[in-house]
Amino acid sequence: MVTMSTATLTTDDVLAALAQVHDPELPMLSIVDMGIVTSVEIAPDSISVAITPTFVGCPALTMIERAVRETLQQFPVERVEVRVDYSTPWTTNRMTERGRQALAEHGLAPPPRFEGDFEPAILLNAQCPYCGSTNTHLRSPFGAALCRAVYYCNDCRQAFEQFKPVG
Ligand SMILES: [Zn+2]
Repeated sequence: MVTMSTATLTTDDVLAALAQVHDPELPMLSIVDMGIVTSVEIAPDSISVAITPTFVGCPALTMIERAVRETLQQFPVERVEVRVDYSTPWTTNRMTERGRQALAEHGLAPPPRFEGDFEPAILLNAQCPYCGSTNTHLRSPFGAALCRAVYYCNDCRQAFEQFKPVG
C-alpha cells in the first residue's frame, strides 16, 4: 500500500503546478505570474494556498479558487485549502518578469512599476510594445477590459493597450 504523504513535496512543486492555472481574463498569464498567490503551506496531510483578489469584486476569483483546488488534487494529500488573502493587497508590482514578458509578447504593454505610493499619474506613461518608444499618449483609460487602457504611439503610429498599473 502506498502511503499518502507530502514528505517530498516542496513549495516549488506546488508553484509549478499553479503555473498551469491561468487568469480567465488574461489567458497568457498564470496566477503565479500575476502575483496572485501570496502563500503556500505544506502540512503532512494538506496543502494550503492563499490568493489575493486582483480587482475588487472580480468574478474571476471564484473560478481561480476552483481551478487551484482542482489542480492541487493531483498531489497525494487529504485536504487542499484555498483561502482568500485580504491582508496582502495586490498591486501590479507583484507581477513577475515572466508575466510582463508574456503580456508584451501579446502586444499588451506591461504595467509600469512604481516606487512608494501609487500615483494615478503613472497612467500617463506607457511604452509601446511594438517599437519600444515612450513617445506615446493615453487615448482612453478604458480598453477592451477594465484592467486595460488604450494608448497611441507617436513614433510607429499604432494604437496599443497597456495593462493598467494598480496600486
Ligand atoms: Zn511604437
